[in-house]
Amino acid sequence: MKGSLPPLSRIGILGDGQLGRMLALAAARLGVSVHIFGPDANGPAHAVAAQSTIAGYDDEAALTAFAASIDVATYEFENVPASAARTLSAKTRLAPGERALAVSQDRIGEKSFISGLGVPVAAFRQIDTGDDLVKVMQEGFGPAILKTRRFGYDGKGQVRLSGSEDEDTLRSKHAELTGAPAILEAMVPFAREISVVAARAYDGSFLPFDPAENVHRSGILATSTVPASIDAQTAEAAGEITRKIMDALGYVGVMGVEMFVVEEEGATRLLVNEIAPRVHNSGHWTMDACVTCQFEQHIRAVLGWPLGDPARHSDVVMENLIGHDAGAWEKIAAEKAACLHLYGKSETRPGRKMGHVNRLSAKS
Ligand code: AMP
Repeated sequence: MKGSLPPLSRIGILGDGQLGRMLALAAARLGVSVHIFGPDANGPAHAVAAQSTIAGYDDEAALTAFAASIDVATYEFENVPASAARTLSAKTRLAPGERALAVSQDRIGEKSFISGLGVPVAAFRQIDTGDDLVKVMQEGFGPAILKTRRFGYDGKGQVRLSGSEDEDTLRSKHAELTGAPAILEAMVPFAREISVVAARAYDGSFLPFDPAENVHRSGILATSTVPASIDAQTAEAAGEITRKIMDALGYVGVMGVEMFVVEEEGATRLLVNEIAPRVHNSGHWTMDACVTCQFEQHIRAVLGWPLGDPARHSDVVMENLIGHDAGAWEKIAAEKAACLHLYGKSETRPGRKMGHVNRLSAKS
């Protein structure tokens, strides 16, 4: 990109969830005007944006008007339909680009792309039918997770297999995914899960945040702790994997890369679980523990500004407030060194991300 878009520029964000909300808040802080496009009138991003379009992602007329109202477009979730990304790319600038979306929308395409870069992933097989599943498991694939290829998130669309199921059980497990095209992944005996959230600019410059150590409950991120309990060499390797993936995609913006840390026979190995072409829940800690947070970093990258300093000044534990957890807001608000973020969602549902809290301590 030639030159950067100055303050008062207009950025369009596809998606009206909490990630869009936090992107909009960061953009506003830089004097940049935000237009949110999303289907949910109650979506938390609309409430904090200068302009809102409430429309479906297949509404070509609304997308065309949206494109005309902005200088650059970005997105806050990876299930943006390819057609919407194509329309925006044709009519305005879209960052990150269509390729990152296409790769991350299909778990088979994603794993093939990553392993094609020489980066290890869990062993996997394509499963199109119940017969495929029975055949692969009876060949001794072992403990595994069956996941839908598309539209899975927060542990949804996943079924665990011990490896000792009989044929009927396998068929009924497959039916639980309602026959959607699936991927079977070997269960990784990980010691811990980490993620790297990083930014890449138009000129290829790359700045990672420190790796976070993540704990999931019921497939949903519960906490991210920084620093992660990994050695400096593993942290460096995690950053290099992330750089390799972002370079290969010609990526512009912030990305999250989730990895498994496997410790075997005294050696540490990293396997990539998945990539998210957007700001990431495991990067929320950067809002209070870093000079520049992931949301501002994404806005800077997309506008062509110099990337900010991702240096971390505090240790931090980010806890997601899921469902009724957010009912403890008053207690958390009174805690020392706790930074509370609530997303303004009026309806509490089990498993719904309502907010998060970053608990800071002196840098170790
Ligand atoms: P995902 O939706 O792929 O991010 O999966 C959600 C969570 O399920 C991960 O963060 C892991 O805790 C667990 N998980 C997913 N895939 C695997 C795997 N192949 N082996 C072990 N655990 C996994």
